Amino acid sequence: MNDDCSPKVGRSSRLVHMGRASSDGCAVNPSIERASTYLYGSVEAMRDVEASRAKGERTRAYGRRGSQTGFHLEDALVEMEHGYRARLVSSGLAANVLVFLSTLKAGDHAIVSDGVYGPVRKFATNALKRHGVDFDFCRADGTDVETLLRANTRLIYLEVPGSVLFEVADLPRIASLAKAAGAWLAVDNTWASGWLYKPLALGADISVVSATKYLNGHSDVLLGAVVANEAAWPLINDMAELTGVSVSPDDAYQVLRGLRTLAVRMKAHADHASRLVDWFKTQPFVQRTYYPASSDHDGFALWQRDFAGASGLFSIELKPAFDEQRAIAFVDALRLFGIGSSWGGFESLARLENAATLRTASTPPEGHVIRFHAGLEDVDDLLRDVATASRIFIG
Ligand SMILES: *Cc1c(COP(=O)(O)O)cnc(C)c1O
Repeated sequence: MNDDCSPKVGRSSRLVHMGRASSDGCAVNPSIERASTYLYGSVEAMRDVEASRAKGERTRAYGRRGSQTGFHLEDALVEMEHGYRARLVSSGLAANVLVFLSTLKAGDHAIVSDGVYGPVRKFATNALKRHGVDFDFCRADGTDVETLLRANTRLIYLEVPGSVLFEVADLPRIASLAKAAGAWLAVDNTWASGWLYKPLALGADISVVSATKYLNGHSDVLLGAVVANEAAWPLINDMAELTGVSVSPDDAYQVLRGLRTLAVRMKAHADHASRLVDWFKTQPFVQRTYYPASSDHDGFALWQRDFAGASGLFSIELKPAFDEQRAIAFVDALRLFGIGSSWGGFESLARLENAATLRTASTPPEGHVIRFHAGLEDVDDLLRDVATASRIFIG
């Protein structure tokens, strides 16, 4: 069979075929290449490889710099995100941090979204100032970015949609502000997994994903990726080299394997999430739901314009009348939703958030917030589970 699957075919077709070799007799799934050391036939051959690496070419020179298995995954992510090159990193958080380290130096200013993933907020708060970088949090929808720009702003770092409350920023608008200011624009793209949202195509320079989530999809691997355009790539690549960032080829293999089913998984996650959100909206104990694919969400119009679909992650806010004990009792009463961190795997999860500390650049929600990941169980079972657990709100 000919594997020359041209880019003209549909997106799901490309997802099945991209990021793999296509020579006669090659395995459908690339084999796992485990190596720290690669051997050369002569000193000259080794020097040639080192010289091409110095020019920024991808080489199999030393395991820390990548393996063929990892390169296949990088190729797939570059194609999916319309990037120039990608770098795999040991976790999503390490990928987030690599972006800050690559684009900023002492004396610079950064604008960081108030909606970033909690540990990124912690990194900004604890590490940026210590290294001489000043920063401000902008609103999670990015509407105040223009007012926060300074002459020395070198990075605008967003997460779209925002963590937990899923505010959607107008990326093309912010990209033009960033360009005019001479600042890099980076976007954490984990919610949409790189499959349903293309920050680089909308003007961003860098897209970051935690591949731990939907790309792998099976809750058994930690991996991150930074996908950059041609202008930002040298900075990312240089800092990755300087800091010794590396990934296991076994993990890269697992993520590449998970990626093949991303399109069908995302459809099911989104379908289950929207059924659950619709149900929660009708419930008297719910103050608000937070899901960008829902027509009453503030980011709905931008989501409709810029996203190719939704994922399975959404939140609900309880009526402020319900205290924390009641919120805990509800989550504890769920049977099919596991209580745990992370998301993007096949299983449903629920997590009670600390609503009061979720946002500082805008007013945080008043009621308790529970974040749900809608998994691949039968949606009727999931609906029955939340309905049964919600009896604790009666009386
Ligand atoms: C989980 C997550 C990360 C961190 O990913 P890890 O692989 O767990 O380190 C970063 N950003 C977002 C938006 C996430 O949800």
